[in-house]
Amino acid sequence: MINVLMFGPPGSGKGTQSVTLAEKYNLLHLSTGDMLRAELKAGTGLGKKMEAIMAAGELVPDEVVIEMIAQKIDSTTGKKGFVFDGFPRTVEQAEALQKMLEVRGMKIDLMLVLEVNDVELMDRMKKRALVSGRADDADEAVINNRIEVYRSKTEPVIEYGRSTGVSRQVDGVGSIEDIFDRLCSHIETII
Ligand code: AMP
Repeated sequence: MINVLMFGPPGSGKGTQSVTLAEKYNLLHLSTGDMLRAELKAGTGLGKKMEAIMAAGELVPDEVVIEMIAQKIDSTTGKKGFVFDGFPRTVEQAEALQKMLEVRGMKIDLMLVLEVNDVELMDRMKKRALVSGRADDADEAVINNRIEVYRSKTEPVIEYGRSTGVSRQVDGVGSIEDIFDRLCSHIETII
């Protein structure tokens, strides 16, 4: 089993790249953002509780996403591993993931960190806002807050990955195909 974490600020291309990486290597793509948006769309109790937090660009409580991920891991068969997209977003989530994998005989094998400068990020997010229909993409203040939350709460997870030797910086600027090739070259080293 191989477990890859896709990292990077909002708008860095994690989602797009995770989908194609998962296809190529027969991994399950697990996006906590997609799972939470599915809860909102279905109008579940959990979705209703999380809506305001997500619309403000803040993080939902750690235990909510940790539980979602644990359930998915346990109900998955026939895959060679997982691509985690948008999870973990705090050091607490990273520690919980590591434990969750350990007790199931797995580990975090690779953490791919997409690097994109803030000017390019804003530009991409504004373009995405025109097509995504996401409330948290539509407002510049919310986008800025999401980038800020990434820097303050999520970037420390990269340090955690560095200390365990699994993190790799990847230039996230260029064509989607070129960035994909860069990511694949790192995955090839662990399979
Ligand atoms: P994303 O699609 O990954 O940009 O996530 C959209 C929103 O969902 C985030 O701004 C958070 O409000 C929430 N979210 C997604 N993943 C997580 C996570 N791992 N921890 C906390 N909140 C999350």
